[in-house]
Amino acid sequence: MGEKFPAPTLLIVIFFILSRLIPTMGYSLRDDPESIRLASSDYGHILRENPAAVLYPTSIDDISSLIKFSNNISTPFSIAARGHGHSTMGQAMAPNGVVVDMMSLKNHRPSHASGIIVNTFNLSVNNNNYYADVGGGQLWIDVLHATLEHGLAPVAWTDYLYLTVGGTLSNAGISGSAFRFGPQINNVYEMDVVTGHGDFVTCSPQNNSDLFFGVLGGLGQFGIITRARIALEPAPKRVKWVRMLYNDFSAYARDQERLISVNGRKQSNALDYLEGSLLINQGSPNNWRSSFFPRSTYPRIISLVTKHGIIYSLEVAKYYDQHTETTVDKELELLLKGLSFLPEFVFEKDVAYVEFLNRVKSGEEKLQSQGQWDVPHPWLNLFVPKSRISDFDAGVLKGIVLKRNITTAPVLLYPMNRTKWDDRMSAVVPEEEVFYTVGFLHSSGFDEWEAFEEQNKEILKFCASVGIEIKQYLPYYETQQGWMNHFGSKWKTFRKRKALFDPKKILSPGQRIFNK
Ligand code: FAD
Repeated sequence: MGEKFPAPTLLIVIFFILSRLIPTMGYSLRDDPESIRLASSDYGHILRENPAAVLYPTSIDDISSLIKFSNNISTPFSIAARGHGHSTMGQAMAPNGVVVDMMSLKNHRPSHASGIIVNTFNLSVNNNNYYADVGGGQLWIDVLHATLEHGLAPVAWTDYLYLTVGGTLSNAGISGSAFRFGPQINNVYEMDVVTGHGDFVTCSPQNNSDLFFGVLGGLGQFGIITRARIALEPAPKRVKWVRMLYNDFSAYARDQERLISVNGRKQSNALDYLEGSLLINQGSPNNWRSSFFPRSTYPRIISLVTKHGIIYSLEVAKYYDQHTETTVDKELELLLKGLSFLPEFVFEKDVAYVEFLNRVKSGEEKLQSQGQWDVPHPWLNLFVPKSRISDFDAGVLKGIVLKRNITTAPVLLYPMNRTKWDDRMSAVVPEEEVFYTVGFLHSSGFDEWEAFEEQNKEILKFCASVGIEIKQYLPYYETQQGWMNHFGSKWKTFRKRKALFDPKKILSPGQRIFNK
């Protein structure tokens, strides 16, 4: 803890020396006000930390040289990879250090890519073995479009695709496909990583496995991901997309758990996607994350929500193509048979696969046009063990959230299976076989975010007081003790890997794990 970094003025001196010493860097390391402004904020719009400079790398060597340079001076400066900056609490910032803008590598060929066929987007697809080699700064939306050209698509997704591969692999990358295929970190075969020493290392479960497992879910602590080999599958053409409403939490949870259970999964016609969310007294049943419900259904859904306070929305999808278009309806019917949703509240859509995967984008565009996207986002994302999810519903959702009555944002709530997570990775989940992800995705005015932060704190305090052993997803802690509790039995390994791969504690200081 408490690694000291030099004052910005000193770093700027270093910056000039650096630019002169390494000619390839001359024009890609910047400290102009616009570069500093962009790298000093994130999607959260809650914290602001100025770096001394921003590196726009044109090759992996640029990154490696920068890290080596920092290692070799008496007082190293911090370095943070920044993907798309969609963290909410400064995780991709480097106070007084250097932020590496990974997306500027999108259009450059990696200089270390021996044996890899790399196109101009730093993205190549292997049709025979169903994988893609993807730059760490690539957006998932670009990965989708490039792989679809080969009739393939990644197995594991996030709901929102304008996130970078390196950014989501540093956390986990979850969505409704996670119950079946695990998070994105479980669908990576190999990576190229520039470690905290500045060394370029290719790693996989077989080679340099400690680095491989450390980096996945490793919050940027051990190295910068410059390439990931990710699993693909044949892409379907279209999607049957269904939402069912419940007013009874236990029926909702029981049905969700049944659908993701081993029996549910093993059926050859298993669901491809399962999520869930809450409808709270928020006016429109749609929100920026999903505009699923047709306008004509608003009045009766709103009156249902008004009557019950909280309505639970189960959301499932089944993919199909020309071979399965005649059977998909029957398969879906069988899967949903016997569920306890309110029979008059079932809604179905049939959409193109890309429209389904990119479903959050239209909400973003709408908010962007209203100036409501770049506002504070006091988010709280949790993993809750299945055995305590009813207590969570009663104490947090029906207790704190309904009582405070400030939540109008999307609230996600759906289960996944622990066996689909590889415990050797850095990512942390609850000990139980089934756990729920719960996401409070608040947006607020610039003067209002503290009220949501207070609610978040009350939720965490409540869980601690009644012994609900939650884990934070996209975690944020202000003390090292908080991080030690978070990692639990994995802390020792996490710390050991830090000592091995980034002993000078240079990387990703914005996570505040090893640096204040
Ligand atoms: P950044 O915020 O830029 O970086 C995140 C962390 O990763 C930082 O510590 C950074 O230093 C490090 N990092 C970035 N790139 C690299 C790299 N190449 N190598 C090593 N470390 C790196 N998450 C989900 O799992 N599922 C979702 O459905 C989902 N939806 C979201 C929707 C929205 C609108 C937003 C804002 C976030 C969502 N997230 C979701 C969270 C998201 O996955 C994380 O915030 C992720 O870190 C964002 O990726 P990024 O490219 O913006 O990363």
